[in-house]
Amino acid sequence: QPLDELIASLTVDIPDHPEPGVLFRDLTPVFADGPAFGRMVRGLAAPAVSDPRVAAVAGGADDPGYDVVVGVEARGFLLAAAVAYHRGVGVVPVRKAGKLPRERIAADYSLEYGTATLELHADSIRPGARVLVVDDVLATGGTLGATVGLVEQLGGVVTAVSVVVELVALAGRERLSPHTVHALWTA
Ligand code: IMP
Repeated sequence: QPLDELIASLTVDIPDHPEPGVLFRDLTPVFADGPAFGRMVRGLAAPAVSDPRVAAVAGGADDPGYDVVVGVEARGFLLAAAVAYHRGVGVVPVRKAGKLPRERIAADYSLEYGTATLELHADSIRPGARVLVVDDVLATGGTLGATVGLVEQLGGVVTAVSVVVELVALAGRERLSPHTVHALWTA
């Protein structure tokens, strides 16, 4: 079965969550299925290698094209840690405001109503490090846009953004341009 069909078949759609009019895609059943989780992690770990912008920075067959994986709180943590372990690189958390204990940088981004803040430890990305950014869902792109901005503020080079599902109607991909967005399923 193709991976996008497998993810689609295990995802549960929740109408009107967290508010009326929103169709929430609940991916936790995909995470809970062993074979599906494994295929999802391997898929996220191999972003768009045909893209010349990504291929250009990969040093060879054993080089995934990134030195570290950044995961976004909270479901992104589950995925980023597995991807990093799979490829033998480290994992760095981007957290909601007030969680990281040491010197940090912050980025505000807009939600449908109001704003939110994401933070990154100031010493967590070495300048020039190649970074794969991972999250579960790309919706409007606000969350991943802020995350990419934090990584770049520290001098990191974002080689790709990998997500399980891209909600195409919300045009998050455009918001992340010119970065490569690698989505396992578009819905
Ligand atoms: P964005 O900032 O609008 O792109 O929203 C993406 C963030 O909200 C991600 O961190 C997702 O985990 C979460 N999110 C948005 N929509 C959904 C959904 O339908 N299912 C699960 N998570 C979602």
